[in-house]
Amino acid sequence: NLSDKLDRAFKVLKGQGSITEINVAETMKEIRKALLDADVNYKTAKTFTDDVRQKAIGQNVLTSISPGQLLTKLMNDELTELMGGTTADLELKASPTIILIAGLNGAGKTTFTGKLANFLKTQKNKKPLLVADDIYRPAAIDQLEVLGQQVGIPVYSNRESTDPVAIAREGIAHAKQNGNNVVIIDTAGRLAIDEAMMQEIERVKAAVNPHEILFVVDSMTGQDAVNTAKVFNDRLDFTGVVLTKLDGDTRGGAALSIKSVVNKPIKFIGTGEKMEALDVFHPDRMASRILGMGDVVSLVERAQQQFDEKEAAELQKKIRKNKFDFNDFYSQIQQIKKMGNMKDLIGMIPGVGKMMKDVEVGDDAFKSIEAIIQSMTPKEKENPDLINPSRRARIAKGSGTDLAEVNRLMKQFEDMRKVMKQMSNPAAMANMMRRMP
Ligand code: GDP
Ligand code: MG
Repeated sequence: NLSDKLDRAFKVLKGQGSITEINVAETMKEIRKALLDADVNYKTAKTFTDDVRQKAIGQNVLTSISPGQLLTKLMNDELTELMGGTTADLELKASPTIILIAGLNGAGKTTFTGKLANFLKTQKNKKPLLVADDIYRPAAIDQLEVLGQQVGIPVYSNRESTDPVAIAREGIAHAKQNGNNVVIIDTAGRLAIDEAMMQEIERVKAAVNPHEILFVVDSMTGQDAVNTAKVFNDRLDFTGVVLTKLDGDTRGGAALSIKSVVNKPIKFIGTGEKMEALDVFHPDRMASRILGMGDVVSLVERAQQQFDEKEAAELQKKIRKNKFDFNDFYSQIQQIKKMGNMKDLIGMIPGVGKMMKDVEVGDDAFKSIEAIIQSMTPKEKENPDLINPSRRARIAKGSGTDLAEVNRLMKQFEDMRKVMKQMSNPAAMANMMRRMP
């Protein structure tokens, strides 16, 4: 995937005390190749590497103390900028706010409709109504109703009607009568772009005058995603993009090119099939993710949504005081196992993501880590600094692992602790960005 390829490109720079103009050029070439392989379109990749090179020259990367790190920082900034710079919020002032969902079949529209309703209800204190406006497959209405029930949101449907425009209007009237302040309209897609579908959704748009039109696209479809986005944007002038299935192998190549081709903000990313597997899109975090740093901020945020609040507060306090210990680590693993997609979440933990790279990721992924922690004494768990080499040997034996594995966990744990401490302090966080990776 993209971050592996970038990792390789960075090898040229990392650990190198001095750096020459040749290896900046060499690295940029590698990076451009990696971006192209990840379905970033040619123009975007070229502009990106040219800009970074220009800035690298402007900031005297070559004579700075840590050129590799400075270059990485430049890339991080530039990627963030490319993906929109700042987080784009939904326009939710109107009551009811009308949100139209558009995209091809299988992109994840219906799933996202459920996730968005859940998000608006639990995070934004809204009272959404879902409208089933995909009338071509009876199963589509059933699907939305099941999701609505799952997240406790009402669904308006009219199984007798064959007119999507009328159903959308009825849905909005229904919302007004019932005090729903957001209406999310799930529409029909097609397997490929076709004129009838475009005209239908244009008619729905004209009839309901939506405040948001969100274009949902499967990030695994690579370059096709970009082309589809372009066509939908030309016809609908949508207000934002939702990238689904970012829990798979794709690491954001589509995010980069879609933004630069249609110039509309990405507002959400879907990271799994469950209703909770939705994240607000943060360009800076996606940039870090593409560059292979663990996306700790997203992890902590998602954890906070799902952890018992008290526990989360306690954890934050511990992190601030640098008292985060193996008991906390262990209970975090248990929490993580409860949350959405494993692969995705693991990728977000700095260090742990790398450690797990070659492991087949399932719920078993944490088994040896759990075994190691379970083989520690209560004192050791509370005070990891106690764990000297002879204790490590004992733990390795007790857990049926080996010393190298224990050492690796200790190192990752220390790294994680450091990052967490910095994350809890904005000034230190800024400093860390400066020193990354
Ligand atoms: P629609 O045809 O656009 O309405 O697409 P659906 O919402 O029915 O989704 C198609 C398939 O993709 C379903 O099996 C969903 O469970 C799955 N899906 C949707 N979003 C995601 C996601 O973010 N990650 C993963 N892994 N699967 C997703
Ligand atoms: Mg659907």
